[in-house]
Amino acid sequence: MSFRRVTLTLLLFAVARAFPAQQPSILPDLAREIDSIPAIDNHAHPMLSPPSDVTDREFDALPVDSMAPQTDPVALRPDWPPLHDAWQALFEVDLQPPLTPETQKQLDAARARVKAREGEHYSVYVLDKSGIATMVANRVAMGTGVQPPRFLWVPYEDALLFPLNNTSMAAQTPDRAQFFALEDKLRARYLHDAGLTRPPATLDTYINQVVLPTLRRQHEHGAIAAKFELAYLRSLAIGNPTKAEAASIYAKYIDANTSPDPEGYKLLQDYLFRTIALECGRLGMAVHFHSMAGAGSYFSITGGNPMNMEPLFNDPAVRHTNFVMLHGGWPFVHETGALLQKPNVYLDISQQALVVPAPTLATWLREWLELFPDKVLFATDGYPYAPYLGWEESTWLSARNARKALGIALTGMERDSEITPARASQLAHMVLHDNAAALYHLHPSQP
Ligand SMILES: [Zn+2]
Repeated sequence: MSFRRVTLTLLLFAVARAFPAQQPSILPDLAREIDSIPAIDNHAHPMLSPPSDVTDREFDALPVDSMAPQTDPVALRPDWPPLHDAWQALFEVDLQPPLTPETQKQLDAARARVKAREGEHYSVYVLDKSGIATMVANRVAMGTGVQPPRFLWVPYEDALLFPLNNTSMAAQTPDRAQFFALEDKLRARYLHDAGLTRPPATLDTYINQVVLPTLRRQHEHGAIAAKFELAYLRSLAIGNPTKAEAASIYAKYIDANTSPDPEGYKLLQDYLFRTIALECGRLGMAVHFHSMAGAGSYFSITGGNPMNMEPLFNDPAVRHTNFVMLHGGWPFVHETGALLQKPNVYLDISQQALVVPAPTLATWLREWLELFPDKVLFATDGYPYAPYLGWEESTWLSARNARKALGIALTGMERDSEITPARASQLAHMVLHDNAAALYHLHPSQP
């Protein structure tokens, strides 16, 4: 052996000792199993299939196109590298982000080709590509291609909380000015559906002629939960006012051209929230609420802290209602984890699964799974963000990233001998499917 060969061999030996072969971050068998589980997506905003897709605005109660600018997380920016994989998987095109005007046209054409090919089946096609058996669709109304059994409905209830003149609420931030205009429109629709043109004169009649019939109608049309975007509109702190307090605010302002002061108005909102939460419990509907630093530069991160809900969770009167903290409460991920000890409180990883890369998301998942594994739900928050990031791409990217995060978390637990391979498999099924199936009492024949 030449001197050079010996030197090279020694050098390679030294390198091998300094950098031992890296173990894969996810055990290969576990990764395969996680990829093969048909998931229940606890929260997303699918758009309708052709031909209704062109005019669909009902994927959100607050579909605001012109909010004041914010600093976007990198995963929502046009140069996010994983976009390439989503475009390829969904639309069979090989394009690099960021798109130019020319490549954006190519993506639009590829999307249009797949839509033309799939027709009304298009929304289900997106689920199939993303490994999702059932998507819980948070929409104002369902429609073409977005129907059971593959899509289950979650409507919006915030509009019912704000029946009075909302001028003072809207004046709080430029974004809320747009939000309250949209909520006023949705409430007018709920009034119309209840056969009314204006709110009744008393709180009792408002509850009995509008609030409860709206919920019961939604339930009859298949709603499995009621969604609140409350954190965009005010704090999540729900007090416990008396009926008399709420009724007097209602009676005083229902016909007024002025707004109540925010403190007084809050009593009425809190009373109505509790009324809805109680009825949801009676009907077997869960209550979903946005709990994460939200979109827009004026979102109150403090007001959206899920710890604000603890007094409500601790109230025995609403223990028959299940609450789901959507988006896992980021940045309050430890707080949401602690709140899972309440028997009727759950969380999902929607939105985080899109914007937080798997290694970081895995650390939160692991903490929750080590403590309350039956309370953690997979979800994407697929949403039409931008021409380069449609609800299709955001669903696909979130699903892939969430599976990776789950794999990293479970692999870490297995390597540290916290769980057996069999338990890792069971936990994967729980997060991706079984926990949601149990929460919503889904029939075994439900995909
Ligand atoms: Zn959402």
